[in-house]
Amino acid sequence: MHDKVLRKIFLGFIQVHILHHAKKGSVYGSFLLEELKTHGYEMSPGTLYPILHNMQTGGLLEKEEKTVNGKIRKYYKTTQLGENVLKDAREKASELIREINE
Ligand SMILES: [Zn+2]
Repeated sequence: MHDKVLRKIFLGFIQVHILHHAKKGSVYGSFLLEELKTHGYEMSPGTLYPILHNMQTGGLLEKEEKTVNGKIRKYYKTTQLGENVLKDAREKASELIREINE
């Protein structure tokens, strides 16, 4: 039970990280895996890619395919809708942190 709840909460945090980094510039999967690892989120590509795909079909991310060293690499960038979601998430997160730290 406690694992399930944490996983749901972390999934939200992870999506906020993705929106934040993909807003600063295009990002690709292995970059995000490394970045998330520095925050203590150990994920496999098999977990990350469906999240990126869902965020893309939900209109939060825009995908661009580029060929790098003969390989196709998928880059993601935060859309305007994604930026709005990030802004709301940031406000809610600040409010939450303020309250639970009291
Ligand atoms: Zn981050």
